[in-house]
Parts: sequence; C-alpha cells; structure tokens
Amino acid sequence: MTVSVVLYTSDLRVHDHPPLRAASQGADEVVPLFVRDPAVDRAGFAAPNRLAFLADCLQDLDRALKERGGRLVVREGDTVSEVRALVRQTEADEVHVAAGVTAFARSREARLRRALEADGCRLYVHDGVVTVVPPGDVLPQGSDHFAVFTPYHRRWAAVPLRAPFAAPRKLRVPSGVRSERVPRRSAVADVSPALPEGGESVGRKRLGSWLADGLDTYEERHDDLAGDATSRLSPHLHFGALSATEAVHRARGRGGAGADAFVRQLCWRDFHHQVLAARPEAAGADYRSRPGGWREGADAEADLAAWREGRTGYPLVDAAMRQLAHEGWMHNRGRLITASFLTKTLCVDWREGARHFLGLLVDGDVANNQLNWQWAAGTGTDTRPNRVLNPVAQAKRHDPDGSYVRRWVPELADLEGPAVHEPWRLTGLDRAALDYPDPLIGLSDGLARFRRLRGSA
Ligand code: FAD
Repeated sequence: MTVSVVLYTSDLRVHDHPPLRAASQGADEVVPLFVRDPAVDRAGFAAPNRLAFLADCLQDLDRALKERGGRLVVREGDTVSEVRALVRQTEADEVHVAAGVTAFARSREARLRRALEADGCRLYVHDGVVTVVPPGDVLPQGSDHFAVFTPYHRRWAAVPLRAPFAAPRKLRVPSGVRSERVPRRSAVADVSPALPEGGESVGRKRLGSWLADGLDTYEERHDDLAGDATSRLSPHLHFGALSATEAVHRARGRGGAGADAFVRQLCWRDFHHQVLAARPEAAGADYRSRPGGWREGADAEADLAAWREGRTGYPLVDAAMRQLAHEGWMHNRGRLITASFLTKTLCVDWREGARHFLGLLVDGDVANNQLNWQWAAGTGTDTRPNRVLNPVAQAKRHDPDGSYVRRWVPELADLEGPAVHEPWRLTGLDRAALDYPDPLIGLSDGLARFRRLRGSA
C-alpha cells in the first residue's frame, strides 16, 4: 500500500490541481493536508478577512474531497513538523506541494525538503499551480526576471498552455489519521460586513457567470467604478480556489477583445510573481530606489489616518477606502487612485499603504499587493515613475455621474452634478450643511511637494 501526502497552501481546490493529480495517480492512498501554521500569523499574513475567506475555502475543499471518498486533514503547528509527523505515521513515500514564490514559502519548502530527505521521503514541488507560467520560465537575455511588463506579456502569451486537469474521481485517505476541526468563518471576529463568500464551488460558479455575462464587455467597462464590471475573481485566485491556468484557458476559448484584456490582467499577476520570485526583498524594500524619501512626523501621521478612514476630503479617494473597509475588496481603479494619492499627493511611504491594504484585502498577497504599491509609488516597475493620478480628473472620467461616490460616501449622497466630486466648491449654507472634511491639501500644492521631494521640480 503506497501513501502520498498533498500539502495544501495557497491552492485550495480539487480541479486543475497538479499535486493532487500526481498523488492520486501515483499512490493507493492520499492524505490531503492543510496546516494552520502560527508562523503565517506571525509574518503578518493572517488578517481577519482572509482568515474568514480561508475558512470558507477549507470547508468547501473538505466537502469536495468527501464527495470523492476522501476528506481534508487539518493540523495546527509548524508545517514541517506536522508534515513529518504525518509522513512517519502513515509511512508515506511522497509529499506533493505547489511551488511558492514568497521568501516565506521558499524557506518552508527548503526546510521541508531537508526534513523529508532525512526520513527517506520524496518531496515533489509542482510548478504551474499558483501561476500560469512558472516564474523563471520566460526570461529576458542576461537577467533573472522581466522588469518591464510589455515584453514579458509578449513572451508569456506565446507559452503553450497545458489543458486543465480534471478533479480526481476517487480518493482514499488512510484510516486513523487525526484531524483538527475544519475552521469556520463564524469563528473569525472583525470581518468586513460585506466580505464575499469563499470556496472552490463559489469561485467556479463565479468564473462561469463571468465568462458568460461579463467577459465580452470587460475591455470597455473595466474602469467603470460604479458599473463594477470586473470579474471579482481575485480572492478565489489568491487562495487558489480557482486555477489561473483554467481561467486563461476558458477565457481564450471564448475569444474576443474582452478575453484578451482579461487574460492580459492575469498576466500582470504572473508578472508580479516572477518579479517577487527573483527579488523576494521587494516585499519590503524599494525595487528601484528614488530620491527624496517620504514625509514623516505628526502631520504625515494625521494624513495617513485620514486616508485610512476615508476622510481625505477627496470624494473618490474616500469612497474607495470605504469600499475596502466594507467589502475587504476595492476596484482596481480605486486601488490605483488611492495608492497614487497616498504616495504622491500626501507623500507618505508606500509601505504604510501596503500594510493597511494587507490588513483588509481579501485578495491581499505579497506579490500583487507590494509590487502594485511599488508600481503606484514609482519605486517599482512603472516606466513612468513620476506620473501622478489626479483624483478629481480620474473621478470625472471613471465615475462621471458620481454614483460610485454617492454609494460609498453617504454625506455626499444628496449632491448632484460636478459638486459630488468637488464639494469644496460649494458655498454658503450648502457647504456648511455638509459633514464632510475639506481636502487635506490642494492638488497643485501636493504636486509641487511631490516634485520637490523627488527633486524633479
Ligand atoms: P479583474 O479586472 O477581473 O482582473 C482579473 C484578474 O487579473 C484579477 O482577479 C487578478 O488576479 C489579476 N489582476 C488584475 N489586475 C492586476 C494587477 N494590476 N496586478 C496583478 N494582478 C492583477 N491584486 C491582488 O490579487 N492582490 C492584491 O493584494 C492586490 N493589491 C493591489 C494593490 C494596489 C495598490 C493596486 C493598484 C492593485 C492591486 N491588485 C491586487 C491588483 C488589482 O487591483 C486586483 O487584482 C483587481 O482589482 C481584482 O479585481 P478583479 O478580480 O475584479 O480583477
């Protein structure tokens, strides 16, 4: 009787899952394992919104495994010690795991390899589980990663895609394997009120309805803030409840300009993963250092607090920050505008913004969050690092009738016309009646300050 362990990390699904497929084809019995590792909490990854979504994913995974005759084994403790104990108990010959890109995942992988080798058990690390194209598979000449998106995209799009794997039909878990209870969302406190539901079945349903009803108009509508016309698949992709490879495959199968634009966004996801895999320190350090530094001190702290609370006096910035608090998710255009505003108008360090986002985003991950923040702050891969998004011009363009602002900033819900984006232009009683702050700084003053700091004035 042969036994394999599948160690689940950020790949919580049964469909298109290379480690589960390899284990179930190669062994008589399989232990699907998830370890709640306190080191993940200590590293600051375990925000309530993600813990709640994670619980949904684990419940759903357990259900899907049970439908196939198996179940999810949950353990709590150091991942390497838990895997090792399980391997010894079940006399497993193989452990299968998805390749990770963060420094945390890679050091866990290296420790696991050493521990299992000592026990005579083989570790198989599978590529193409978390990303579509594994980091390092396409490279520019003379470098270990692409630093510019467009040439990366060109090469990425030409990589032949494997067909998605079906979920295994039957699984057998060895008897006598102890499991903790599978976590439940209801046990997690401080969750955003409108946090979406997680789990592979929800993610697959969402992908199906998105391909049928949203994809075709994605190219024209993806920046329409009020229209909310993006896929909202990011949390499902973050937890691996949905395979990015399958999403690309199925979108390409439908074809059209919408599919091209959507697949291009999924390529951004791989792009950031390959940057982080090559430069793990970019999670906290500037990818490209820029002159000037950031504002510090009590005034900067107060501005940061107002930004976090959605009280900057710029309606679109405030709307987006409140959407984040309420849903644990923010529209991409909102993320770009709020990040540009914090780093280039308030001139506050991108790490502060990234930390706040990671504390709330249900899709928050090191590769996409930190590197998008760096992109917005001009310390990352943006080829125009000093571009500043004007939150009023952006509002007029991407929320032309103000519906997005009115939805999220109730203080402005009764305003009509351009005043909703520039309430400071109201005069007299109209202005006095509003319980809404004045802008923290005028945009031209903010721009001048940013240019001074960067030395580009
Ligand atoms: P869609 O527009 O439907 O795009 C489809 C998928 O493509 C997304 O689900 C996502 O997986 C991927 N994608 C889209 N845009 C990007 C991008 N710029 N970079 C990487 N992948 C992308 N995305 C995260 O998944 N996690 C994060 O922590 C995160 N933090 C961000 C922080 C900032 C400051 C910015 C500007 C962007 C961030 N993004 C992050 C990228 C992007 O905003 C979200 O992926 C997107 O808004 C998710 O919504 P959606 O699923 O409807 O996207």
